[in-house]
Amino acid sequence: MSAKVWLVGAGPGDPELLTLKAVRAMNEADVVLIDDLVNPAVLEHCGNARVITVGKRGGCRSTPQDFIHRLMLRYARQGKCVVRLKGGDPCIFGRGGEEAMWLRERGIEAQVINGITSGLAGATQCDIPLTLRGVSRGVTLVTAHTQDDSRLNWRALAEGGTTLVVYMGVAKLEEIRQQLLEGGMTADMPVAMIENASLPQQRECRSVLWRMQDDAQAFALKSPAILVIGKVAAAEQAAYVAVVASA
Ligand code: SAH
Repeated sequence: MSAKVWLVGAGPGDPELLTLKAVRAMNEADVVLIDDLVNPAVLEHCGNARVITVGKRGGCRSTPQDFIHRLMLRYARQGKCVVRLKGGDPCIFGRGGEEAMWLRERGIEAQVINGITSGLAGATQCDIPLTLRGVSRGVTLVTAHTQDDSRLNWRALAEGGTTLVVYMGVAKLEEIRQQLLEGGMTADMPVAMIENASLPQQRECRSVLWRMQDDAQAFALKSPAILVIGKVAAAEQAAYVAVVASA
């Protein structure tokens, strides 16, 4: 691989959910810059690369995005093979798009390698099919958290009728509940909340829209977690799927 920056998805956590291409890039990297949602267990593929944590959690102050950009640029200009490793998929709420554009504007080749995004993995881990013939004709991935605090049009999402997969929603459960109800979603719409999807400490809390915040509180739901809101999230759906599959 030539000197350039690979924006690599590390998947949701389970190292077996890495792609072969991600493993190859890590293996050939000189420098690996990782986020904190990346499971350290995947780093065994990094060979002799220098691994630098540029995460934003763990009680540390955020590493400014600008600093991350400059670090990637510096190493790439030194002719190093740089891997920017991100949790899930780099381009699903992972700033992969903006990092790639920033690098390309400066003449650096940037290539994205997909990872399995936590929203898809979380649902699968709980036997939730995000689309299901006759039940859900689509799926919408949304983040409840925006940098500029702009509001998402939850009403339109409620009316759209697709399965909703919500990232960064743990602190916004009340707002989500209220707005989806106002948008006309039924109060007993099934909800699954999946914490640490695909990791050994994964936990799952099933609820329905009107009491999802109370249930999450009783469960002590913590970030990182994914919310799946839609008929497919009903626990009994698994049995339904089994019936359809055997028909
Ligand atoms: N690029 C990542 C998402 C980054 S945004 C991806 O594609 O998965 C961070 C949010 O992702 C968290 O707040 C949480 O909602 C979700 N998330 C990431 N990893 C997770 C995991 N293992 N289990 C549940 N949610 C996760």
